[in-house]
Formats: sequence, structure tokens, C-alpha cells
Amino acid sequence: MTTATLFNLTYGPTTGRDSHAGQLPVRRIVIVGGGTAGWMTALILARSLIERGVEITLLESPAVPTIGVGEGSTPWLRGFFDSLGIEEAEWMPACHATYKCGITFDGWSTKPGFERYFHPFASMLDNLTMKQFVHNADARVNGARLHAHPDRFFIAARLAAGHRAPKAAENFPFDIWHGYHFDAVLLGQFLHRKALERGVRYHSCHVTHATLAADGSIAAVSTREGETIAADLFVDCSGFGALLIEKTLHTPYVGFSSNLFNDAAVALPTAIGESIPSETVSTALRHGWAWKIPLTSRFGNGYVYSSQFCTADEAETELRRHLGLLDADVPARHLKMRIGRVTRHWNRNCLAVGLSQGFIEPLEATALLFIQQTATTFVEFLEQGDLSEQAHKRFNERVNAHFEGTRDYIVTHYKTNTRTDTEYWRANADNMNLSDDLKKLYALWMSGKGIAAAVGQQALGKGYPIFSWYSIMSGMGIFPDAEQLRPPSAQEARFSLAEIDNLLERSSANYPDHRATLEHIPPRRTAPALQAYFW
Ligand SMILES: Cc1cc2nc3c(=O)[nH]c(=O)nc-3n(C[C@H](O)[C@H](O)[C@H](O)COP(=O)(O)OP(=O)(O)OC[C@H]3O[C@@H](n4cnc5c(N)ncnc54)[C@H](O)[C@@H]3O)c2cc1C
Repeated sequence: MTTATLFNLTYGPTTGRDSHAGQLPVRRIVIVGGGTAGWMTALILARSLIERGVEITLLESPAVPTIGVGEGSTPWLRGFFDSLGIEEAEWMPACHATYKCGITFDGWSTKPGFERYFHPFASMLDNLTMKQFVHNADARVNGARLHAHPDRFFIAARLAAGHRAPKAAENFPFDIWHGYHFDAVLLGQFLHRKALERGVRYHSCHVTHATLAADGSIAAVSTREGETIAADLFVDCSGFGALLIEKTLHTPYVGFSSNLFNDAAVALPTAIGESIPSETVSTALRHGWAWKIPLTSRFGNGYVYSSQFCTADEAETELRRHLGLLDADVPARHLKMRIGRVTRHWNRNCLAVGLSQGFIEPLEATALLFIQQTATTFVEFLEQGDLSEQAHKRFNERVNAHFEGTRDYIVTHYKTNTRTDTEYWRANADNMNLSDDLKKLYALWMSGKGIAAAVGQQALGKGYPIFSWYSIMSGMGIFPDAEQLRPPSAQEARFSLAEIDNLLERSSANYPDHRATLEHIPPRRTAPALQAYFW
């Protein structure tokens, strides 16, 4: 699932950092957990630390499986692989991966003309059409009868509609900021192999408990196999169990259930056809939403719902009906989700990464970005050699701000819905548990003064760029009703939709068929600076 968040994870060099830099304050790191969080963190740490003599060991329980879901990414995952020097041609086939141009949201609004919209990943080409989109949307909020549905303005929407890949022909040098879909289990296995190649040590053992030093930090973990393993730094990647950050250090947890109701999911695979879509589809169902994620080998499907409003059996039946699988004996997987975050992701000598640090439901597929951002930011702090309380505070504020900003964007999907078919959707629309920032952003939108400046400066709508906020508000049809609209003035109607259509139509012809591209994945091109995409 999407999306473009603004966190500054620039594409880095493909090898480790300056190996002559000074002594690091940490010599031995133990990571507990071998899910995607454990292995991504291991690789991010290894890239900077192993050649400087730091020993990194990952412990994984043979008895606790990984969560085994999480199949969509934001575009930042491209930065993760690029920074490690791992080519798409290597990792994508190994993980049955496909390209992702964005997400279609289907059935979230009942407003005529807005029943469906696409949240795009932006591209350089969108610099040519975004101004027009923002202009039309602002004019429409002010009552002008102008076209302001996002799908008409973004190249990514065209590519997704045509099952095209976001990889331009050689002679068309416009980079598209794309994400990926992948098999979560295969991705874990791939990262595991890569981490071992890069010097991370692996130990299969079940951690039973941790012992604390006199100052309250973690001294060592003990295993069911009878070992005691000491380290300077412990990374908790133990999943929802949060073995170290919560069970050992008792770090307080902030739940988000007052504004994000979903707490469960059920997943089912289906067959993929000849043509492979290059988007995630998120369809609103009675008590939540269903994802449809294309891989080269299958579709991953799932229903994320609220157990306050429906039972697991009801959810499974509704998903099966949605997929046309009522009579099929394909087994379903049921999962529980805990939505919220710890207050301190870095607490004493423990860093929590992945589900152990918190989780916002997967509507925008942001969890891997949290992993990447938390681990990358931690390396920056470590390299500065500052492990003081002040450093902890700055780090935690940064990660918490990322969580809060993402939560607000996800909440907007629910708050702006106009469905009235179930209590679930009515309760979401009526929910007034909104952050102050979100209330201000909605008020600014409704005032007709435009939110581009506030979002562009990140005074409001933190973490998401202008095109994301305009896509969600316009895509959900947060405009005056059709009968209240008036003819636009000449100034309001100054942009020609025909010209935009023509530009996007001609441009999209330079992007090839998705399946064909996956069969011959092109070599990496140097990605231009991402900030250029945000005008
Ligand atoms: C329904 C659903 C859909 C999702 N969709 C997306 C998505 O589209 N995009 C996205 O980015 N994210 C998504 N996520 C989130 C994503 O799945 C996770 O963020 C990601 O897989 C990382 O999980 P993890 O490694 O933190 O935890 P896990 O995969 O649960 O791994 C935990 C690890 O800890 C180990 N462990 C546990 N206890 C012990 C112990 N006592 N001793 C030793 N080892 C132990 C386990 O063996 C395992 O290796 C989704 C999550 C859910 C629930």
C-alpha cells in the first residue's frame, strides 16, 4: 500500500561509511528477532558498523514464526536496497516482487464521481501537472464547477490503469517514484542470506528473559537453550511480543484505538492472471477494507477489520464473498494487530524496531518505512557518538512525530468516508478523536484558502507531501455538493484538461508493460534527488 512520506532518507552510497572514523560507543549488538524488522535492521547496522569492528548477532526463536504478512511498500524501500547496493534484478525475482505505482481506494466514498480514486507515488513529470491539480481543487472548494479528481492529473494513475511498469524507456529520462509488492516470507529469507554474507552472525535460540544491570539497562538475555548472551546494545525486533522494550523495560505504550478502530485481519491468496497490475487496490468492505496485492506468483488478499464490529468468522465470510471464494477450500490466516506505539523507541540500551515499537494499520503500507527510518536514524546518532539522555529524547521525538503524522493521514481515510451502510463506517465518520493538527488542516481546507503552503512547509499534515493531502481530500470528494457549484471564472478555468490528458497520454506511452518488465528487470539508474518531486 502507498505512500509518499517526507522523511529524509536520502539514497546513500552503496558501501559502508568512513572506516577511519573514531571509536564507536558500542562494540557488541544483539538483535532479538528474525522477521523483516530484524533483518532490515541487521543490514542497515552492518553497512555502517561491521567494518568498524562492531559485532552484530541476530537471535531468532525456532518456536515463534514471523508474522508472514506485509507485502506492500512505500518508495523508500528503493532507497533501502540502493543504499545496500542490491539490484532490483537480484532481489525482485527472489521475492516474487512487482512494481507499485500507488494505491486505488475503492468504495470509501459514496459521493457521485468520487467512489474511487488513486493515491499516486509522485514523479518528476507530476511537476508539470500538480500546480493545475492544486489550483482546480482549491477553486472547487470555493464552489467552482471544475474537474478536481486526482486520477486525471498524475502519470502514476495512468500507468496503474494500463498495467504498466514505472520504468521509463531509456530515451525518456523521467524517474517515477515507485514502491514494490513482494512475498513477505521470501523477502525475510532474502534479507537473511544477504545479512549473513555481510558479516551478521545468526543464532537460532529462544530468548526466555533478560537480566538488568544495576543502572537498569539490559545486561544480557538468557535462552531456553541455556545460554546467557551479553551485549552493549540490544535491538528488540521480537514483533508484537515486544520482549525487551515492553516486557523487560516496561516502556509505556500509547494505543491509537480511539481513532483507528481496526485490530484484526484475515488473509487469503488467489491466483494471478496473465496481466499483472502495478498497484495495490484497497476496497472498503462492511467493517474495514480489503487489500489486493499483485505478486508474480499470486495475489495476496486480506481484510483488515475491527473486532468491535464483526467476528473473525463474519470477516472471513465477507472476504471470501468479495473474492468469489465462498465455496473454495483455500485456508485463511487470521491475525490480531495492536495499533499504537511505545513512548520511547530507544530506551536505555535497547532500540525497538518493527512491530515491537508499534504499528499503524497497513492501509498505507508504512511499516517497513518505520523500520528503515528508525534503524537509519539510530545509526546517525550512533555515529555522532552521543548516547546521552538528550540524544535519546531527540531520537524518540523524531520517531514519535513520524508515527503521529502517519496516524493522522490514515485517520483521514476513515474520517472523510461517507458510507452509511454499517455502524463501523458511521462511527468512523462521527469520530471526533482527532489531533489538533488534523483539526487545523481540515479547517484550512474547508476555509478554501488552500492547504498547499501549510503542508509544503510541514506546519500541518506532517510527514506527507502536498500531492498526498490533495489526493486524499479531493479523491474523497471533500468539496461542496454538486448543486452548490457555480460556473468557474476565466481565471479559475485557466488550465486545459485536454492539454493535461494529452501530456500524460503521450508520456505514459514511454512506460512498458508491467509483466514484460518483470521478466527483464532493467539495471538501476541513479535516482535523482527525491525532493525535486515536491515542488
Ligand atoms: C495484516 C497485516 C498487514 C501488513 N501489511 C503491511 C504492508 O503492506 N506493508 C508493510 O510495510 N507492513 C505491513 N505490515 C507490517 C509488517 O508485516 C511488519 O512490520 C514486518 O513484517 C516486520 O515484522 P517484525 O519483524 O517486527 O515482526 P515478526 O515478523 O513478528 O518477527 C518477530 C521475530 O521475533 C522472533 N522472536 C519472537 N519472540 C522471540 C523470542 N522469545 N526469542 C527469540 N526470538 C523471538 C520471531 O521468531 C520472529 O523471527 C502488516 C502487518 C499486518 C499485521
